Amino acid sequence: MQTTPDTLALIGNTPLVRLRGPSEATGCDIFGKCEFTNPGASVKDRAALFIVEDAEQRGLLQPGGTIVEGTAGNTGIGLALVANAKGYKTIIVMPETQSREKMDTLRALGAELVLVPAAAFSSPCHFVHTSRRIAEETPGAIWANQFDNIANRRAHIVGTAEEIWDQMEGRIDGFTCAAGTGGTIAGVGLGLKAKDEAVCIALSDPHGAALYNYYAHGELKSEGSSVAEGIGQGRITANLEGAPIDTQFRISDHDGYAWVRRLLDEEGLCLGLSSGINVAGAVALAKHLGPGKRIATILCDTGFRYLSTLYDAEWRQAKGLS
Ligand code: PMP
Repeated sequence: MQTTPDTLALIGNTPLVRLRGPSEATGCDIFGKCEFTNPGASVKDRAALFIVEDAEQRGLLQPGGTIVEGTAGNTGIGLALVANAKGYKTIIVMPETQSREKMDTLRALGAELVLVPAAAFSSPCHFVHTSRRIAEETPGAIWANQFDNIANRRAHIVGTAEEIWDQMEGRIDGFTCAAGTGGTIAGVGLGLKAKDEAVCIALSDPHGAALYNYYAHGELKSEGSSVAEGIGQGRITANLEGAPIDTQFRISDHDGYAWVRRLLDEEGLCLGLSSGINVAGAVALAKHLGPGKRIATILCDTGFRYLSTLYDAEWRQAKGLS
């Protein structure tokens, strides 16, 4: 094994693991991209690094400057560790409904944490709008704007998609994941389609998100709700514009949690609920494509981030998830 030049070089180049249970259940080979092995333990380290380096290259971020972002948590963790490695400060705005572990991690990383009540996107109190206002009012600050800053999806075009293509030796029939900002699905989709137009790109949308109806019927409309953190989008973000979605599935928390449970109990993988929803989506895609196909999905973050929620029986019972 070679040495790595610095901590930021630890971002990306994650392993791709064959998931035994989902593969056996479908007669396909289903692979999970282990994004929990990034230094911030989630897929969002990639977007954080690209957003910061893009701002540096544009001359927007000066030494000692501040990075402000609204986030469900993982992007904040990624930004805070990139900021520490490069000598910037971070102010992170987060809905107070997110897991305690994410808040504790952000505080441990030295980020200034601003908690806001959960609010609709149309409300000025929404975490995205609050973060933009703070960035505007803070001298020397940039707003990372992960939803509409396409440096986010570029991280997945040049990073995640290339890696998946190489790791699968160009033999891949389908890819699926859920969308938060949409950076992952759009970036990996565009990157894989550039290699082979025939790769089927499927959106796995949680309940409560509006994208399933948009891609299926051309209408942004949501039904139901989900307790999965980091996913569930109600609009076409700049990152989602032109995303090459061939098909879409609506995945329940119940189905996502069933795979979270099985992957932990049978394969020793401790994951968050969005990963379970992605794996349930990969199983749906395998059924859609038929046996013998090779499918990849994203294992977005570590389950250790949800010990007080997803892995707590009382919490699950309160949320009707068991
Ligand atoms: N899963 C988790 C746990 C996340 O934090 C995020 C990011 N919001 C996603 C999935 C979705 O990734 P993206 O923003 O690239 O759509």
